[in-house]
Amino acid sequence: MSTTPVDSTITGLVNPYEDLEAQLRGYTIKPADPAYDEARAVYNGMIDRRPAVIVRCCDAADVVACVRFARQHSLEVAVRGGGHSASGLGVWDGALVIDLSLMRSTTVDPANHEVRVDGGCLWRDVDHATVPFGMATPSGFVSSTGVGGLSLGGGIGYLSRRFGLSVDNLLSADVVLADGSLATADADHHPDLFWALRGGGGNFGVVTSFRFRCHDIGEHGVVIGGPVFYDLADTDAVMRWYRDYVPAQPGELNGWIGVTRIPAVPLFPEELHDRPSCVIVWCYTGSHADAERVLAPVREFGNPLLVGLQQMPFSAMQSMFDPLLPSDLQWYWKADFFTEITDEAIGIHSKYGGAIPTPLSNMHLYPISGAAQDVGPTDTAFAYRHGGWSGIVAGVDPDPANATAIADWVKAYWEELHPTSDGGAYVNFMMDEGPERIRASYRENFERLARVKAQYDPDNVFHINQNIPPAAD
Ligand code: FAD
Repeated sequence: MSTTPVDSTITGLVNPYEDLEAQLRGYTIKPADPAYDEARAVYNGMIDRRPAVIVRCCDAADVVACVRFARQHSLEVAVRGGGHSASGLGVWDGALVIDLSLMRSTTVDPANHEVRVDGGCLWRDVDHATVPFGMATPSGFVSSTGVGGLSLGGGIGYLSRRFGLSVDNLLSADVVLADGSLATADADHHPDLFWALRGGGGNFGVVTSFRFRCHDIGEHGVVIGGPVFYDLADTDAVMRWYRDYVPAQPGELNGWIGVTRIPAVPLFPEELHDRPSCVIVWCYTGSHADAERVLAPVREFGNPLLVGLQQMPFSAMQSMFDPLLPSDLQWYWKADFFTEITDEAIGIHSKYGGAIPTPLSNMHLYPISGAAQDVGPTDTAFAYRHGGWSGIVAGVDPDPANATAIADWVKAYWEELHPTSDGGAYVNFMMDEGPERIRASYRENFERLARVKAQYDPDNVFHINQNIPPAAD
């Protein structure tokens, strides 16, 4: 990521942003403003950046004004959607931050099974709009993440095995481009841009509005799911069963697996609190008439410590873990794609699962099989379509004094596990890992992405992201 010097024509002025402010429906927040510290904070409490100005945009016209102003004055541009990126890519030192957090409207169209979503929405905004109509569009596994970053990077969640990734359900996007124009990209208009947006992250412009396809789920939006915890000592047997069982199931059944400590919250019996465990979190979105048959093997396998399966609205499934993960925790994570969960990898999970440094630290493996695998690797910019899992090792803790301990555990775990992986990682689960890792993640799509970048953002205005530099002529 490059740094650009701020244009000397605006430094030293009493209010260098007067011209910009005159064009906005939204407002600016500058370093001297009381709201500045709250506005520059992002989800990861480790991030401490000081932008030149944060612009709370209200609409596409505000975003256009920001892009033009930033270019005119050689300011770097950061784009903040939900602010959840672990490397804090929504804010940047000395940059103009296009903050979309006021842009959170949704418009649901139940008859056509579509939802239109503003660029600053969180997934909980979308669930709120769609689930009362018995439908949802594929998102993630928590509701607090931003639609912008999550869906532009791919979008892996409870519905991926049944309906594909978020990008596989994107119908169109309104995008403010690097030249300050506004384009609508879909299958028939700007098809290259539309292809690149579906996995290429924030490299191609600022998406002010998304239109997604929705699907009927469960019974009137009520699904069956929840965690099943096993003793950590059972990890070997559980993971061996899981790695064969899940990919063979219909897309209605999804379940991610991890090693974790059982959360010390009233939902779980006190005697289990903080106990190292292997967990599978299930979500069944099919007909309830078939549920007992489909879920019987899940309930019957092994010797679980706790079976927490129950009926709940899909929005409750999505937000189940939100209270455990408020903003301002310390986060350090590393990721990889895994085509297989090898015997060697299972041994490593058992070993590091027994050394989890803090109660919230964990390892998760999220399936990218079923419908997510039915899409070809070059059909969208998201290249990893071999089945398998997106894995992440996350060190998490409220106390900054533990930042080194959690990062050390993550690095040691990842170093040992990485040789069992498939190379590259989900870009939304990467921190600052350098250009080779980004290239490896996009695989055969990287060159085409660089060409589309050269067409739509030849000066790399949008570079505060997992950056794809424009192809040289
Ligand atoms: P931001 O930090 O706001 O943005 C991240 C990047 O996206 C930046 O480069 C930003 O410029 C760009 N961006 C954001 N919005 C826009 C926009 N409208 N237009 C253009 N560029 C934009 N991922 C999954 O796939 N599935 C999960 O289940 C999942 N769970 C997660 C749980 C937690 C607790 C966390 C912290 C992350 C999780 N993620 C998950 C990863 C998540 O996809 C990324 O962190 C993603 O970047 C979050 O998007 P955001 O808009 O909140 O982030």
